[in-house]
Amino acid sequence: MAEIEGENAEVDAFCRKLYTEPPKLAVIEQVNSRPLPLRGYESLEIVHSRPDGTTRAFVPPDVATCGECLREVRDPDDRHYLYPFTNCTHCGPRFTIIFDVPYDRPRTAMAGFTPCSSCQAEYNDPSHRRFHAQPVACPDCGPRISVLDKNGRPITVKKGWQNFFFHRMCQGKIFAVKGLGGYHLACLLDEEVVAELRRRKKRPCKPLAVMCASLETVERLCVLTSPEAELLQSPAAPIVLLPLKKGALVPRNISPGLMTLGVMLPYTPFHHLLLRGPFSAMVLTSANPTDLPILKDDAEAIQGLRGIADYFLVHDRPIVQRCDDSVVRVAAGDVQFYRRSRGYVPKPVDLAFEAAEVALGAGAEMKSTFCLISGRQAIMSQHLGEMGTVESARFYSESLGHFLRFFKLQPGIVGYDAHPDFHVSAWARELPQVVKIPVQHHHAHFASCLAENGYGGRAVGAILDGTGYGSDGAVWGFEVISGDFLNFQRHYHQRYVHLSGGESGIRWPWRMALSYLYSSMAEKALPLARGLFPERAAWELKAVAREISGPLQWLPTSSCGRLFDAVSALLGVCRENTYEGQAAMELSELVPDDAGPLDPYPFCLGDNEIDFLPMFPALLRDLKKGRDKKLIARRFHDTVAGAVTEAVALVCRSERTDTVALSGGTWHNAYLLATVKRELGKRELNVLTHRHVPPNDGGLSLGQAAVAYWRWKENVPGHTYADYQS
Ligand code: ZN
Ligand code: ZN
Ligand code: FE
Repeated sequence: MAEIEGENAEVDAFCRKLYTEPPKLAVIEQVNSRPLPLRGYESLEIVHSRPDGTTRAFVPPDVATCGECLREVRDPDDRHYLYPFTNCTHCGPRFTIIFDVPYDRPRTAMAGFTPCSSCQAEYNDPSHRRFHAQPVACPDCGPRISVLDKNGRPITVKKGWQNFFFHRMCQGKIFAVKGLGGYHLACLLDEEVVAELRRRKKRPCKPLAVMCASLETVERLCVLTSPEAELLQSPAAPIVLLPLKKGALVPRNISPGLMTLGVMLPYTPFHHLLLRGPFSAMVLTSANPTDLPILKDDAEAIQGLRGIADYFLVHDRPIVQRCDDSVVRVAAGDVQFYRRSRGYVPKPVDLAFEAAEVALGAGAEMKSTFCLISGRQAIMSQHLGEMGTVESARFYSESLGHFLRFFKLQPGIVGYDAHPDFHVSAWARELPQVVKIPVQHHHAHFASCLAENGYGGRAVGAILDGTGYGSDGAVWGFEVISGDFLNFQRHYHQRYVHLSGGESGIRWPWRMALSYLYSSMAEKALPLARGLFPERAAWELKAVAREISGPLQWLPTSSCGRLFDAVSALLGVCRENTYEGQAAMELSELVPDDAGPLDPYPFCLGDNEIDFLPMFPALLRDLKKGRDKKLIARRFHDTVAGAVTEAVALVCRSERTDTVALSGGTWHNAYLLATVKRELGKRELNVLTHRHVPPNDGGLSLGQAAVAYWRWKENVPGHTYADYQS
């Protein structure tokens, strides 16, 4: 709140300027003004914020280092020269260092550092850009870097940590580096070193992110367009997926089987300093044991990275909130999130409706996030990762606790996935004093897309993903539905095939290939499979075939992810998913940009089934003829795009709606997205896609919260949940 005194014209000008020239990072949601009696102020006075328990605090996301701070860090005459924790009101850590609101230094990880007189003077000076910058620090008063050996014992470095880091990195050593929201592993961009990192981390194929010193370095490695350059340089400084440049000197094992590279620019002075030596790019990947949250405490990191890191580069500013790097890309002309975390969280997503009760979306089992809907805002958590371990459950509840405290919210409603085995769903079902509303997985994806687009009407949804628990108990994943926040109707789904081996069917795409072949051509499938998968033993293939034909073990699935797996395996692109979505991703990257017109393969649109079985004999003929796999991949993509477009258009006509929502992890497939968007556009349909939250399960919690809220709101009059506790 501000009290402004002066002539009418001056006061008006001040209010106008708030909108036209706000401070760099200010987010103006609303300006309310009213006349006040004259007080005769003589000077500018700042009255400190008080935790009064009524106003909703704004907790800002972390912000990448600004140009002015960077200049100081590089200026030998400045007191911040080479200081890794330099920041100001325009930049620096926020979300990751705050443990309570209002956002003042004593309630941050900087509480233990007393500012020196120079820092205090800048903090107190209204004309200085460090005026009221809570995390201000300098070499005299702020956090410091130290080096530890692989066992966590401090090492004395004679010529400074930077020199030590450069020297050992160039020898091929692997460093654990404490960053903003957790630990990273850093190593040289070198084939052998990367292979060693992969071996130690037991992560054979998952793409690793690269941090580049500057935009010029990025351009040497990747093809860069201006929206991508803008994203890289934005205050959020996410990892941006970029096409690799032909002939660029990037070791192939950084993103095996893919034509893209995840790149980011330094976002703290510390990171800038790491790249101010003999190399201008390095691998920088989040350090977490498989399926566990990103590591944040020194002891936990030393324990968790035993046998992986040769050295630890640490500092004494605690990390309060774990927060992974965000991952985005530009697809079909828009920003698309793979992971919405550091730099974006906890900035709310605007809604087009005003919620009268606080609704929590509990999230999914993988790529989990939670979401709190309150008023006209949806507040999404950072990426919480895979659920199902003690550590991830603790991370989840700690983060939820923080958010409820930060935003002073108490949910009255919880929406959760209807899957009987999801850990977060089990937890949600036990929550006391809350209305509990199960939400079908694909309905939640659909609602998430409607909500972030500010659309409240009826629409048709094409929801394509890997795994979702269906209302009939089957594993859904290729669904054309219609509905709104309240309800949905399933119009088309991919014809069910058998999910061979459950979890191991997801790991081994050849099992799904055999499943499709068997459904398509019965007994003839087995001899074919022997030729296609010579690396599998005959008994193994037979066992899977027997399983498919045995009615007792029938596990039906309409998953789009499994269809891509099957084709990926048939083409020999990928026969083991070592990370989620690998086979589908590698297949999608095979599609050539300019192959001219090709006919799609045959498919069948039944009363409520989309049947891809007729595609398989034709695809196998192409394979047998030795046709280019890129062209087969392209024909397959066109087949899927054609089926989606046709089914959606039919449902739009029967349901008399012209709005279509595309959601689910499959929509990360850039070719599919662009093609379907274009084809639906030709039919004059209004296509909604995800631009603010991920289309994958990372965006699911928003849809769960929206559906739960509207079901609660429409079913029962009144606004208290006590009415429904029967
Ligand atoms: Zn700054
Ligand atoms: Zn200082
Ligand atoms: Fe999903």
